[in-house]
Amino acid sequence: MSVARRLRRPGRIFRQARMIARAMQSRGHPILAHIIPVRRCNLSCGYCNEYDKVSQPVATEVMAGRIDRLAELGTEIITFSGGEPLLHPDLDDLIRRIRRHGRIATLITNGYLLSVERIRLLNRAGLEHLQISIDNVQPDEVSKKSLKVLDKKLEWLAEHAAFDVSINSVVGAGVKHPEDALAITRRALELGFDTTVGTIHDHKGQLKALPDADRAVYDQIQRERKPGMWAFAYDNLFQKNLTAGMANEWQCRAGSRYLYVCEDGLVHYCSQQRGYPAIPLERYGAEELEREYWTKKACAPFCTVSCVHRVAMIDLMREEPRRALKEFFPAGMPAPVRMLSNLFLPAETGKPQGWATRVTAGAVKRVLGIR
Ligand code: SF4
Ligand code: SF4
Repeated sequence: MSVARRLRRPGRIFRQARMIARAMQSRGHPILAHIIPVRRCNLSCGYCNEYDKVSQPVATEVMAGRIDRLAELGTEIITFSGGEPLLHPDLDDLIRRIRRHGRIATLITNGYLLSVERIRLLNRAGLEHLQISIDNVQPDEVSKKSLKVLDKKLEWLAEHAAFDVSINSVVGAGVKHPEDALAITRRALELGFDTTVGTIHDHKGQLKALPDADRAVYDQIQRERKPGMWAFAYDNLFQKNLTAGMANEWQCRAGSRYLYVCEDGLVHYCSQQRGYPAIPLERYGAEELEREYWTKKACAPFCTVSCVHRVAMIDLMREEPRRALKEFFPAGMPAPVRMLSNLFLPAETGKPQGWATRVTAGAVKRVLGIR
């Protein structure tokens, strides 16, 4: 891990903790928004429905206005997605704008345009997290997002990035060499990055059943990456069912706790359900956030859009914390989670908290700036 990344890490952890604390406190604001600065992409992955080859970047002042509006709505994390966001000429200024609002700024990129200088500029702008999806070890006719092409960029990131990096690999129907996902995960772990593994979805964000060979690779990846607490909980709650081809019972909060803002400034549920509700961001407000919090989405049972699942986990915790924790950790809570739940949740026995617990909980809340 680079020295700069180490130095900035405590600040990032603090801001993430504050973000979760605020999201737990109120459901009146979005937790995460994906925003598109340019629809164009420099690649043409065979499975992708999220890019074109002609769009111009959205004007910087228009993007700035959208960021201001998202901040006004209380959005905690603003993520640039695309297309390829690094094609936007003023991306660094837009990242700075998010940070000036006190929000978390993150980026999803195919990594092709990264250089040492570009990474340093992203450091200076205040980027906090970057995600790259890598599809295969060798490029093929479907995807050029391969470890072979991107490995040098990953080494530069390991050496120079002051922000967190996570590498996503994929398994599922249509992936030619499922064992590639394992090679990609191992390389990412070796370089000190976080890893995620996604299951491939169709053009509506829906599950395709996981073939046996992919299932075995997936299980091996889970053993080797030793997922952190949240990733472990996510696996228990959503991914286990999806890899077994089974439906999940959950309430999708897209359009409320998660927003997808397209290049035309319209709010959609997610990248896979564009067109709903398709309301201009400047007219999107408390009424829409409240309505979409409760709207049942027919696509939810077999949805594979993991960022929206993760957002939903926070609301599960907020609404029924004890039940949620049992679902997250069916074999028993890890020690830090047990400690936090003892601090912040009413005792299961109904007994009032002792004074030491109350004082500690109050002090932690004050540090995080919440009531
Ligand atoms: S790099 Fe990403 S946005 Fe571009 S074509 Fe591939 S999947 Fe789509
Ligand atoms: S369930 Fe929600 S996140 Fe998933 S595809 Fe449907 S609208 Fe998108």
